[in-house]
Amino acid sequence: MQFPEKISKMVEHFSRWPGVGEKTAIRYVLSLLRWNHDDLHALSSAIAELTLLKRCQECGLISEETTCDICKNHERFLHKTICVVEGVADCFAIERSGEFKGAYHILGGVLSPLQQIGPNELTIDKLLLRIERRDIREVILALNPSVEGDITCSYLRDVIPLKVRVERIGMGIPMGGNLEHLDVLTIHKALENRRSL
Ligand SMILES: [Zn+2]
Repeated sequence: MQFPEKISKMVEHFSRWPGVGEKTAIRYVLSLLRWNHDDLHALSSAIAELTLLKRCQECGLISEETTCDICKNHERFLHKTICVVEGVADCFAIERSGEFKGAYHILGGVLSPLQQIGPNELTIDKLLLRIERRDIREVILALNPSVEGDITCSYLRDVIPLKVRVERIGMGIPMGGNLEHLDVLTIHKALENRRSL
């Protein structure tokens, strides 16, 4: 049986969600069909409004304005500490833990010679500028444990001025593990067990 095109189109959209296969996507669309029109319109405009979000010009976090709430908050820079993460989801995960009171920097990935991701593909230059401009004394590398993560940490230690302390978050995160999927307690432990690079 063929679905009407409008349904197939929505199934295709939902199938792009992480962890959603075709069967689940079909279930989602069929459940939408039971919603009333007002709720469907509200959902579609909420999705359209996502296009209004920006990237913070300082740290790269998703933000309503050109500078995010964290970068606007002077208190977040009092400790002169920046936590470097691969992506936005990692930042939200650490924020959820409530454990870190400094500022963030979104790297945009990790160095990967195989995928031809070099320093210029990441926001490393911007990070160095921020360290200088904000007089940052400590950088915490909260990169996911992987070969590429290790390479990136060594590279960052090499390019960050020696007077700045560079630490990597600790064990507890398994190799290949991902920060964004960790529970608050594991993140708390990882931040606690930092080691100097
Ligand atoms: Zn920001």
